[in-house]
Amino acid sequence: MITTLTTKTTAIEAHIILGRLQAEGIPAFIAFEHHIWANWMLSNALGGVRVQVLSSRIKDANVVISNIENGEFQKYLEAETGCLEKEHCPSCNSNAVKNIIWPWKIAFLSLFIFTVPIPYVQNQMKCVECNHVWKTHKRTYSVSVMIFTIFLFGTLLLIGLALWFFWCRLNCSVARFI
Ligand SMILES: [Zn+2]
Repeated sequence: MITTLTTKTTAIEAHIILGRLQAEGIPAFIAFEHHIWANWMLSNALGGVRVQVLSSRIKDANVVISNIENGEFQKYLEAETGCLEKEHCPSCNSNAVKNIIWPWKIAFLSLFIFTVPIPYVQNQMKCVECNHVWKTHKRTYSVSVMIFTIFLFGTLLLIGLALWFFWCRLNCSVARFI
């Protein structure tokens, strides 16, 4: 007898769980993934991608799921590689730091105004302990992409204004006297 262990919105998430279960020696299967690969927006309507296990192994599988959720496997990975270490404050060395998400807010604002998000360029971090703010070296987009995007928006804006101006000269009674 096969039982559904968990349901995920995307097939990728389900395959990550599947890989972990199989690595732990628990036979697991994925069901109803192909429609969602074809059109992921139907995932909720179709009930998501199901990760299924044998009923006899459901307890073991639930332990694996709770270990994933508690971050147990992440701790192992951090201990082995050391590459998942959190950012530290360069001023007081505290690891109570948070990301400043202004660039995302700017991107959403430009999405609202121009219908296209201006790519954010630089990540900033803030220390919760001493309020020190610093820039991280992780650049999401290069400066040249930012310059190109601003140039593109400027050109589109000028074309839009020119079209509006000429259309208005032909059709608006007020603009005829300009
Ligand atoms: Zn600090």
